[in-house]
Amino acid sequence: MKQILIVEDESRIAAFIAKGLKAKGYNTTIAEDADTALNLPFGYQFDLALLDLGLPGQDGLEVLEAWRGQGINFPVIILTARDDVTDKVVGLQGGADDYMTKPFSFAELLARIEVRLKNTNHDQQKSEQMQIVRDNMTLDLRTRKILIDNREIELPAREFTMAEVFFRHPGQVMSRQQLLDLVWGYDYDPGSNIVDVYVGYLRKKLGNKTIETVRGMGYRLSIR
Ligand code: CA
Repeated sequence: MKQILIVEDESRIAAFIAKGLKAKGYNTTIAEDADTALNLPFGYQFDLALLDLGLPGQDGLEVLEAWRGQGINFPVIILTARDDVTDKVVGLQGGADDYMTKPFSFAELLARIEVRLKNTNHDQQKSEQMQIVRDNMTLDLRTRKILIDNREIELPAREFTMAEVFFRHPGQVMSRQQLLDLVWGYDYDPGSNIVDVYVGYLRKKLGNKTIETVRGMGYRLSIR
């Protein structure tokens, strides 16, 4: 089982990520500050770390620097509320593998984690696994585009993430709550009709019949 280290001082966000990852079969360890992250018991073998930058005590970038200085080379995805380009550049130069700005959706985080874990496995099937094919539609996780009968469709990030959730659960009814959790994460107003609005956007672009309404339950990707 893959071990993921979550370095995050906001316990609400750490718990949200840990819960989602556990549901996907990952083991998680949470460190709420830099000292804890840097002093985890020897023998902990992490496959990947999620690293918040704004931490009490030392900054996340210092943690990253310390790890890389010690030759710890697991993939690191930076998670931060700072959308400052400088931080991003410094993070990537400091040896981070990817960077996500909060708020982010769990589905997108998971997709990025999977890409990083696959890259470290040098999986030769990588290119095939980066595409999900359903009927005449191909969702490409690298270009983040959808091909329908070789017609290329570009979707804004949130719509793509929602499409990905449907593609990963073909024929399965997804409730509004599940879609909120997977696509919007903790960053949503539970009373909003945002799911319905986005289903409308996807239908407009992918075809009206692509996503079925299952009365009283939710939506599903229709497959022939
Ligand atoms: Ca923080």
